[in-house]
Amino acid sequence: MGSSEERIRAGIEAIGADGVRGGLAGGPGQGGRLTGLSLRDHERYVSLTMEFRCNLKCVHCMIEGTMDRLQPTSVEVFERVCADQAETGRWDGLVLTGSEITLRGDLERIARRAREAGFRHVRIQTHGMHLARTDYAERLIEAGVDEFFVSVAGADRDSHDRITGVPGAWDKMMAGLEALDRHEHVRILTNTVVTALSYRMLPGMVDVLSHLRRLVQMEFWVYFPMAEADAKGLIARHGDILPYLREAISRCRAAGRFVEVKNFPECLLGDLGDALVNGQPTLVIDPEFWREFDRNEFHICPHRENCGSDECLGLTRAYVAAFGDDRELLFPIPGQANHSFEERK
Ligand code: SF4
Repeated sequence: MGSSEERIRAGIEAIGADGVRGGLAGGPGQGGRLTGLSLRDHERYVSLTMEFRCNLKCVHCMIEGTMDRLQPTSVEVFERVCADQAETGRWDGLVLTGSEITLRGDLERIARRAREAGFRHVRIQTHGMHLARTDYAERLIEAGVDEFFVSVAGADRDSHDRITGVPGAWDKMMAGLEALDRHEHVRILTNTVVTALSYRMLPGMVDVLSHLRRLVQMEFWVYFPMAEADAKGLIARHGDILPYLREAISRCRAAGRFVEVKNFPECLLGDLGDALVNGQPTLVIDPEFWREFDRNEFHICPHRENCGSDECLGLTRAYVAAFGDDRELLFPIPGQANHSFEERK
């Protein structure tokens, strides 16, 4: 067992709550091959879901059906994580997430407490709209938030506002990003859900954010529904996504930015396969979430018995139901087959 897995296992034990899962996809040693291409910091971060309200209506929202049932991580668990961190220093960073964490009125207090407990980084996952209030963004930074993981749904005002369902969302998010960009020590990451509505815009998104000096990593998460079928018709064919995704990866790298792709077949990425990073921070979330999540059944692939990829999650049940198993398109990656990923779920 690699030391990162041991660290995560010990961390999960210390958190001592239901619904905690480590999120590494690749096996021990996978981090090494990606040095310099992605932040690949997931094994050193723990993520707490401390707010389940949201004021956007993103069409691709994965938890829209469960948002009102999921319980946020309690202050008691948060305090336990802080006490453990103060004692062991096992994590580099804390991620505060859920739906829209900036709706939480005590976010500054939480960030401050996390920094006092010894987290070197506090990252928030946000739609970024509230950061347009520069006094608010300043207060968060002052409290210790130094990493902002911002969801970018489109490549311009029209597309972003249409996908998020709220007019004005793009302008506020961009104003927020530009406010953050004035702070030298701040790191910005973006997250884009790749759907049938958004995949053609991926290269344009890289371009429209090219002026942000603090933007260190762009992530492209290929959509999957939390169900066995794609009721909203949001899944796009991998073959259709591929040229746009490759172009976006290349433009990111040309601009000196890290890039991570999630939930896409590694074999299709070819020489850009090293952009696939399915790892996630260790996640603390209401166990109800996993009951829904596990319905998607990743790891379907006609070639998996012969494939050496340690990172690829294959296809979901909903993808196969929509488009078949792509057996003519996919091809096994040379190497020793390692199917331990099922055990990591
Ligand atoms: S053959 Fe299947 S498991 Fe292997 S990289 Fe392609 S999609 Fe992933």
